[in-house]
Amino acid sequence: MNKHIHDLLIIGGGPGGSSAAFWAASSGLDTVFVEKKVFPREKTCGDGIPPRGVHQLMEMGLEKKLNDYHRFNGLRALAHGKTLEMSWPEHSTYPQHGYVVRRCDLDQFVAENAVNAGASLLQGVEALRPIEGQDGAIEGAVLLDKATESEFEIYAKYVVIADGANSRFGRSLGASRDKSLPMGIAIRGYFESPLHDDPWIESSLDIQDRNGNAMPGYGWIFPVGNGTINVGIGLLSTFRDYKSINTSHLFEEFAHSLPEYWGINPDKPIAPPTGGRLPMAGSVGPKSGPNWLLVGDAAGSINPFNGEGIDYAYETGRLAANLIIGAVEHDDPAILTRYSGMLEDEYGLYFRVASLFGRVIGNPVLIRELTRIGMRSQPLMEWALRVMANLLRDEDKGFAEAAYQTIANIVRLVPDRLVHN
Ligand SMILES: Cc1cc2nc3c(=O)[nH]c(=O)nc-3n(C[C@H](O)[C@H](O)[C@H](O)COP(=O)(O)OP(=O)(O)OC[C@H]3O[C@@H](n4cnc5c(N)ncnc54)[C@H](O)[C@@H]3O)c2cc1C
Repeated sequence: MNKHIHDLLIIGGGPGGSSAAFWAASSGLDTVFVEKKVFPREKTCGDGIPPRGVHQLMEMGLEKKLNDYHRFNGLRALAHGKTLEMSWPEHSTYPQHGYVVRRCDLDQFVAENAVNAGASLLQGVEALRPIEGQDGAIEGAVLLDKATESEFEIYAKYVVIADGANSRFGRSLGASRDKSLPMGIAIRGYFESPLHDDPWIESSLDIQDRNGNAMPGYGWIFPVGNGTINVGIGLLSTFRDYKSINTSHLFEEFAHSLPEYWGINPDKPIAPPTGGRLPMAGSVGPKSGPNWLLVGDAAGSINPFNGEGIDYAYETGRLAANLIIGAVEHDDPAILTRYSGMLEDEYGLYFRVASLFGRVIGNPVLIRELTRIGMRSQPLMEWALRVMANLLRDEDKGFAEAAYQTIANIVRLVPDRLVHN
């Protein structure tokens, strides 16, 4: 019997995988995506979809669906006893609002949207290992149907790897994380709150360890609109005691420090909090092989400024799908060699600025001073929000280069022992 060879096999049904599946299937590619869990499935996340992510969801025709969920119009920043409320900046491409949608809902409806566009979704099916072809190409994957515990194979001309932060499939193809770039860790839980439908998301910018040292990261409170709020705390790996951090303790302390208006019982999260790793700044590579591409967290696509990754997973999934559509059309796998260059054009400089910034704020003195200065000026913080949410406008052209130079100069001025701790 002839084996069926799909145009595209995608490993993972999260934002990266479902976006790749939607765009490929919409162009008529014979697309199959496999997800090891069964929807609706939990995914540890802050559940905040920033404007870039909303834009991608709108592009996939999901604007109406988003109306069922909690919309936020801006960010309330808290630090050093001060509060600033900032609307999302205007932008010609991105909307001026975001949504909070629990990932059990979001990932299910985005995956269903890809199925409606013509992709086949196999749930409860785990990709165990690649079927190796010639010269680093892969012919498909060996899969496990978890319900029947039976193994089977799927063959495809192209493979997109969207299996998330741990990316075992990507690692088996030789991808690894560049440890000189920052990584994040974060933990979150849900609490009942009378302010569950507050129109602002909130960030605490002056988080500290038990000894009162400032830490590079922030605490968040994202109202979910269903009677609950998502509370979490995220840190960068750029400070001295990173490895000894106990995130559960940090979470408990943060929950107890929440402003009273949230009205939570900090000892009673709805379920035990859970955490995860955030591979950032394009830190995982190589991102492509002869007929495969990495997207989303599997490629380390998270923004080091703020830990956003849903939007970058949608974007990289779409970029990968577009290249594969061209490769299938022209029967030319060499088109995939453009992927790394496209990612560099789109995110390279921005991620370098963000990584440098991460190194700077790894120093407790600098982070305290920067937040203190920032909180004194609404325009300065609005500018910072635009930068950190990657919502730069055409008129900001040249800004990234300038910011990079400024931060590079600061790093040069700061003694090494302070930057590296
Ligand atoms: C605590 C925390 C809070 C965060 N908060 C936010 C936030 O508020 N906003 C934001 O934008 N980003 C946030 N992020 C980052 C965001 O969650 C990720 O960037 C995003 O989920 C990446 O999407 P992805 O599709 O690449 O990977 P994932 O969402 O991890 O999806 C990967 C999918 O692949 C499946 N899979 C894995 N291995 C296999 C296999 N072998 N076979 C089949 N299926 C497989 C998994 O089950 C999963 O469904 C947060 C991260 C953490 C840890």
